[in-house]
Amino acid sequence: MKAEIIAVGTELLLGDIVNTNAQYLSKQLSSLGIEMYHQSVVGDNAQRLYDVMAEAFSRSDIVITSGGLGPTADDLTKETGCKYFNKKLVEDKKAVDMLKDFFERLGREMTENNLKQAMVPEGCVVLYNDNGTAPGILIDDSGKILVMLPGPPKELIPMFEKYVRPYLEKKQEYILVSRVLRVSRLGESMTEYKLRDIIDSQTNPTIATYVKNIEVIVKITAKAKTRDEAERLIDPVAKEVYARLGDNVYAEGDTTINSVVCEELIKRNITVAVSESCTGGMVSSAFTDIPGISKIFIEGAVTYSNGAKMRRLEVSDKTLEKYGAVSEQTAVEMAKGIAESSGADIGISTTGIAGPGGGSSEKPVGLVYVGICVKGKAWAKEFHFTGNREKIRTRAVDAVFDMLRREIAKLD
Ligand code: ATP
Ligand code: MG
Repeated sequence: MKAEIIAVGTELLLGDIVNTNAQYLSKQLSSLGIEMYHQSVVGDNAQRLYDVMAEAFSRSDIVITSGGLGPTADDLTKETGCKYFNKKLVEDKKAVDMLKDFFERLGREMTENNLKQAMVPEGCVVLYNDNGTAPGILIDDSGKILVMLPGPPKELIPMFEKYVRPYLEKKQEYILVSRVLRVSRLGESMTEYKLRDIIDSQTNPTIATYVKNIEVIVKITAKAKTRDEAERLIDPVAKEVYARLGDNVYAEGDTTINSVVCEELIKRNITVAVSESCTGGMVSSAFTDIPGISKIFIEGAVTYSNGAKMRRLEVSDKTLEKYGAVSEQTAVEMAKGIAESSGADIGISTTGIAGPGGGSSEKPVGLVYVGICVKGKAWAKEFHFTGNREKIRTRAVDAVFDMLRREIAKLD
C-alpha cells in the first residue's frame, strides 16, 4: 500500500512552526511497511487543499492529513475531504456529548462554532479525541482511505496510536522490521565502502547507512509476514555487517555511545575523573547527564589556564613552555594529574583550539588532544575537527567517549 501525508496550515508554509507531524507519521507508516513517495504542505485554502488531495489519491491508496480540523473559519480540511468523497456532513451524537463534557470540565462556555467539530462525514469512522475538541475522521471508501487528524501533536499522536495504527495494521499484509547498528568513528563513506556489495545485492532485507551527529547508523530492514520471520531474515545480514565493521559497531537499537560507555563503567565499577581545557566542562556534563553516574564519576576539573593546569594537575611548566598547552604532552600530563589527584581508575583530559581565533599553521583551529590515563599509564590521541567552535567542542566530547569505549574493552 502507498500512502502520502498532507500537512495543512499556512503557519507551516511561512515557517512559523516545524512540520513534526509529518516526521512522526512518516516514521509510523514506514514501520508499518507502507510505502511513501510523496508528502505535501498546503496552506489553509480549500481549493488548493482539494487539488493536492486529488493529486495524492491519483497515486496513493492512503492519504493522511494533519491540521485544519478545528472550529474556526480557516479550518476546512474536513469539508474538503467530504467534497472529495462526495459525502454529506452529519452530526455525531457521541462527538457532541464529548464536546459538551470537554467544555464543562474546563469550566468554559461552548460557543456555537464548536459544534461544527461534531459534524462528521456520513459513513466515516470517527476518531474520538481524548486530548482536545476536534475528532479525527477516517473515510474508507472504494479502495481509498482518507485519515484526517488534528494539528496539535499531543492530539494527533495518541489518536494515531489508538485508532489509525491498528486500522492500517489490519490492512497490511506485510510488516517492516528494522534493526539499527550504531557505528562510531568510521565515517559514512568508509562504512558504505565496507558494505557496498551487500548493500547493492540485498533486496530483503535492505541495508541503508546514514549519519546521525558523528555516528553512522546502519539500518537493516526486512519485509515479512511476522516479526519472527523478519528477524530471521535480518540475523545473517547483521552478522555479516558485524564481521565487516568489527568493533566500530558499538551498540544496537536506540541508545547513545555516552550511555553505553557509562553503563559499562557503572557495571564494572571503574571510576573516572576528567580535566578539561577546550571542552570547559562539557565532558563532565555529558557524564552527569547519565542517571546513576555518581557511582563512578569522581570529579571534573575545568583547568583552562596554564596556571590551573600546573597547580591543579601538576602539569610541569617545562612541558607547557616547550610543547604548549595544546599538545600531546600536556594532554598526557593532564590525564595523569587528574587520575592521580582524584584516585580515579581512569583520568581523561581535553586540550585543543576550538577557534575561531588562536590557530596557527602548526596548531590550526580544530586541533584537539584527548588524553587518557588508565591504571597509571597515560597517552593521548590527536584529532583534527572541522566546523565552528561549538562543533569542534562537541566532537571532542564524542572523541572522549569513543576512546573510553575502546579502552574499557581492552580491560579485563
Ligand atoms: P485546532 O483545533 O487546535 O485548531 P487543528 O486541527 O485545526 O487544531 P491547526 O489549526 O492546523 O490544527 O493547528 C493547530 C496547532 O497544531 C498549530 O498551531 C501547531 O501548534 C500544531 N500543528 C499543526 N500542524 C502541525 C504540524 N504539521 N506539525 C507540528 N505541529 C503542528
Ligand atoms: Mg485550527
